[in-house]
Amino acid sequence: MKKGKIFSAVIATVILAAAMWSIKSDSEAVRTSGRAVAETIAGQGMLRLVEQSIQEKQLSETVVTEGCSLEEQQHPQAALTFDDGPDARYTPLLLDGFKERNIKASFFLLGEKIEKNKELVKRIQEEGHLVGNHTYHHVQLDKLNETKAREEILKTNNVIFETTGNYPQYMRPPFGAWKKNLELCVEMLPVFWTIDTLDWKVQNTEKIIGTVQEQIKDGSIILMHDEYATTVDAALRVADSLKEQGYELVTVDQLIVP
Ligand SMILES: [Zn+2]
Repeated sequence: MKKGKIFSAVIATVILAAAMWSIKSDSEAVRTSGRAVAETIAGQGMLRLVEQSIQEKQLSETVVTEGCSLEEQQHPQAALTFDDGPDARYTPLLLDGFKERNIKASFFLLGEKIEKNKELVKRIQEEGHLVGNHTYHHVQLDKLNETKAREEILKTNNVIFETTGNYPQYMRPPFGAWKKNLELCVEMLPVFWTIDTLDWKVQNTEKIIGTVQEQIKDGSIILMHDEYATTVDAALRVADSLKEQGYELVTVDQLIVP
């Protein structure tokens, strides 16, 4: 790209950013508070690293999508997230359903299960979903010493890299148990949730859908597990219903850093 073009692209981005700032909405307030939470959890340094890479990505995307109307970006957003997979039986059913509906989700995978389902993990990435780390053996990180905790995370990162060609940036600690400052050792951002569907416990499609409907709001991160038929049914029905309510279903990284 020529220098002049780059300059125009930068100007266009600045104008777009200014326009978006001026139509500041409630949803932005929600995300700003989300940032404060992320900052507390992850520490400013780590968050800045992620922000930087996302800003770079957004700059290049803005150049491509300059023609889009601002209104298109004002949908409320939510993220469907799945832990404990990949599962040879249920993950493909979710992927089929998401492809049909053209929506993206996030999958926090266990290292030991990735080893047995490499093609499936490739498919998750190829279809535009986020591949995250959920440790190798589903361990509670705050009960392990630093070396073991790091091992659980890095071994999983390595198997994800061998399988997809990319290192994951995000991880969901099993049981939501994170060790303070661990992100500085492993350079990963921990991702929690705002809606716990308890899908593994209730295994009841209607109850899972009900829990989401009661708690859904702009910026929600919905926790499910791709190990049950009831979860697959519920996730696809939730996706349809949220779409009807005007929601855009995005990968979780898009909600953590606006
Ligand atoms: Zn788990």
